Amino acid sequence: MIDHYGRNIDYLRISVTDLCNLRCVYCMPEAGVRRLRHNEILRVEEIEEIAIAAAALGIEKIRITGGEPLIRRSIVDIVRRVAAAPGIREVALTTNAVLLPQFAAELKEAGLARVNVSIDTLDPEKYREITRGGEVEDVLRGIEAAIEAGLTPIKLNAVLMGGVNEDSIRPLIKMTEDADFRVRFIEVMPIGECAGWNQERFIGISRVLEEEPGLKLVGTDGVSKLYRKEGSVGSVGLISPISSHFCPSCNKIRVTSDGKLKPCLHSAEEIPLKGLHGDELTAALRKGILDKPYKHHLESEDASNSARGMSAIGG
Ligand code: SAM
Ligand code: SF4
Repeated sequence: MIDHYGRNIDYLRISVTDLCNLRCVYCMPEAGVRRLRHNEILRVEEIEEIAIAAAALGIEKIRITGGEPLIRRSIVDIVRRVAAAPGIREVALTTNAVLLPQFAAELKEAGLARVNVSIDTLDPEKYREITRGGEVEDVLRGIEAAIEAGLTPIKLNAVLMGGVNEDSIRPLIKMTEDADFRVRFIEVMPIGECAGWNQERFIGISRVLEEEPGLKLVGTDGVSKLYRKEGSVGSVGLISPISSHFCPSCNKIRVTSDGKLKPCLHSAEEIPLKGLHGDELTAALRKGILDKPYKHHLESEDASNSARGMSAIGG
């Protein structure tokens, strides 16, 4: 469906939980978040209904996210139902990959096309620090499982933090040399946990090109500028939500795990969907698409206007 600004909104992200088995410093409070009550969280059937209604309005691609989507008990059933919604052409999932060895094959069979895996560093000690206790070996095993199951091509997402993981840029890019990984570096956004961080943590994506001057621009892929290192099989994407935001071409809406439609990641506006069915649900989704703001104001304001952090919205 076309919004008021002529953008074709065809992409929906659904958060299936705001809980997680890791505690990344930019995303989750150390103590975790309040567990939603059972009746607050979208039920599997409600997620399916939203997917069907959204597809009827022109949504073609759905990304399942969280929190960590693989800790939701019914994740395979959710993927199966969403993938079966008439008009949905692709279902993908964003994960920290820790539980992929357990779920990759079942998810593929249920209709999942691909996974994006978050991995900010390959250094075990640094990974433990960033995730407050995670093991990078678990992620690498998860990636292997995804490859075996055919959940490919795999995008590897790394959030760039000044003074934290700049030395991980080159090792991550090295992964693209012999395999078709699409490593994407993302500027950390001042939302939720890191809204109050010191300025030096927020570094521009150009830092990647300083570390690896041999990268050649080869095109674009959605919101990322695509680069390739000579002779490499994979690619390197640079995503800069802050220094050159991509609102004018944003094609996305989001639904939180408690059933609120967020037309824009960084806006406070939320439209309740839980409890709506049939024409009412369709009308609320249509309103969200039509009212999607033209742009967010992250480049001119200190922090996101969103009342929630990424784990609660679904990144
Ligand atoms: N748990 C899954 C994972 O980590 O891939 C899915 C949810 S997580 C919220 C989705 C993505 O949001 C991750 O790639 C994470 O790095 C990113 N993210 C979280 N907080 C962020 C922030 N403040 N700025 C930029 N990216 C952020
Ligand atoms: Fe969990 Fe993903 Fe947030 Fe890390 S980024 S705390 S893995 S939800």
